[in-house]
Amino acid sequence: MRLNILFLVLSIFAIAHVSVAEVPIFDLAEEALKAKTLELEAWAPSLKFIQELRKIYIEVIKVREQVPDSPTELIEILDLFENIDLKPVCNSCLTFVGAIRKVANKGFVQKLIEKVADYACEKKMSKTVCAEAIQSYGDLVFETLLDRTVDPQRVCQKLAMCPHTRERTRLKDYVKEVLKDKPETNRPKPTNKGTYTVLQLSDPHVDLLYAEGAASSCDQPLCCRPEFGYPSNTSEGAQHWGTIGPCDVPFRTFSQFLQYASSKFDIDMIIWTGDNIAHDIWHQSQANQTLSTYEITQEIFKYFPDTPVYPMFGNHEPYPADQYDTLGNSSSWLIGELSDMWKPWLDEKAMETFKNFSYYSMVNKEQNVKIIALDTQACDTEDFFLIRDPSDPMHELEWLRKELYESEAINQGVFILGHIPPGDSVCYDQWSSRYRALIDRFTNTVRGQFFGHTHHDHFQVVRSFADNSPVGVAIIAPAFTTFSYLKPSFRIIEVDSETNVPVNYYQYRLDLDKYNKNSALTTLEWDLAYGFVEQYGLEDMSFESFDKLADQIKSDKDVARTFQFNHDSGAHSQGYLNARQTQKAYCEAKFSVYEDALKCLGLHAKASDVFKFAKQFLPGKWYSDKC
Ligand SMILES: [Zn+2]
Ligand SMILES: [Zn+2]
Repeated sequence: MRLNILFLVLSIFAIAHVSVAEVPIFDLAEEALKAKTLELEAWAPSLKFIQELRKIYIEVIKVREQVPDSPTELIEILDLFENIDLKPVCNSCLTFVGAIRKVANKGFVQKLIEKVADYACEKKMSKTVCAEAIQSYGDLVFETLLDRTVDPQRVCQKLAMCPHTRERTRLKDYVKEVLKDKPETNRPKPTNKGTYTVLQLSDPHVDLLYAEGAASSCDQPLCCRPEFGYPSNTSEGAQHWGTIGPCDVPFRTFSQFLQYASSKFDIDMIIWTGDNIAHDIWHQSQANQTLSTYEITQEIFKYFPDTPVYPMFGNHEPYPADQYDTLGNSSSWLIGELSDMWKPWLDEKAMETFKNFSYYSMVNKEQNVKIIALDTQACDTEDFFLIRDPSDPMHELEWLRKELYESEAINQGVFILGHIPPGDSVCYDQWSSRYRALIDRFTNTVRGQFFGHTHHDHFQVVRSFADNSPVGVAIIAPAFTTFSYLKPSFRIIEVDSETNVPVNYYQYRLDLDKYNKNSALTTLEWDLAYGFVEQYGLEDMSFESFDKLADQIKSDKDVARTFQFNHDSGAHSQGYLNARQTQKAYCEAKFSVYEDALKCLGLHAKASDVFKFAKQFLPGKWYSDKC
């Protein structure tokens, strides 16, 4: 199928680019496809490949009917070339490439590509999802790819017709530079004089349109909504408090969680690591993208009116999902909305930084700990904006380094929070390797790193560049949503008051079955699933203990089984892991950069793992402006 699409696209492009003013471009494209189809049909009429080609041919005819004026537009643009002055060299190159960019930008090429994308999409997903996806992402993907491939500055510099204004920033030089003044390792040990309590909420994905009784299986990515009907067999319908499956959680369950947490614990601070909206990716809009965040924010205020809250948005909050504009200001609407909602929680400096750059830092004066909230869209491989320029988006790493220097100078502990864990396969290695260097350099200062996004319960040990020893750990909290076939969960972290070193965490899960089956139970209570230190028989929550646990996952079958049970939020009974599952759990825990985890996986890697790695190369190398 992919070959067929390639053939079509190449045919159209080839014909379009060799055409001159009077040549009817679509006639040629149509003729070429028709001839090829007939030729192949005569040769082997039953081949699926040929049937597919015929369908594409029909699509081309349809597109032609929709954009009858396109060849005229192309001819107008081609006329531009005649007026180009070839001297001076740099300017003429810029004008020339700019004109090519305009040609490519004309609607008919994009419409054709969209048509083909739609055709391919509908092979895998429903018509509604495909139409929405093409509409939401089409323009952006097309523009981004053009910006990347037909960028006048880049092309003319490559052709040596314009001077270079940027220089390559190599990873190894960056690491060397960051680590040049790394002090002796001297991490504080918990004093055990007292602790305080942090609540971590991640990936609530509340569904404001969740409907009890609605079909809990459907042909869309998200079910349990009125639009999918109500099955006569109630066991096939959405349950009152939530449904483990392709459904997000109803708001009432989320509200009960806050009620439960506020009455059960004395919470000193809340960290909220994003992804607040339902997975209804076919209903995306700016309003839809922020409504759940607004409702959640209001509900947190209701139950925790005086508790410091440190929020950060997830990859689902931008519109369209994952597309945060790291170079321009087309995502400023999101930051504007969130700033208004979160104003009572962020101080003036934090708010100013957040408004301008989408990340922030803020000192919790009561505990003397600095919270650094990262916008991890800076490394999201699904964010097409990064293809334009992946080099330290929004100067976030540069800022993080300054913030860490400041805290180090006054011996202040730091918590880093964010949505996507740096070692995840959807975080660019170029970014996560540099982040690793910063964690390595400031191992004495960064006391905790808290992430979400994967919906699973796990961790990634950050290793030193010098000797591979553990210098940090990214701890990933499981989701509150049931969407990934998990139980609604939240985490309580116990922190040493004197040093701000986390000493243990407690995982809480909701027994949905119990409450769904008994309508007399109207108040939800979460169960303590485990305490980290006790569960794995560890001495403490130090980086070394996490590293030891990673080793035990590989060497001890019972530990691996327990880890995997917790990894899936206790929603699935777990047998012993096979060799690949064990190696995967071990490698993902042992490293904080995806490439390292993949190397560790070795022969156990699947094609899908390698494909994820291949995506890492899409945005290309990092550059910085020449001074
Ligand atoms: Zn999520
Ligand atoms: Zn996410």
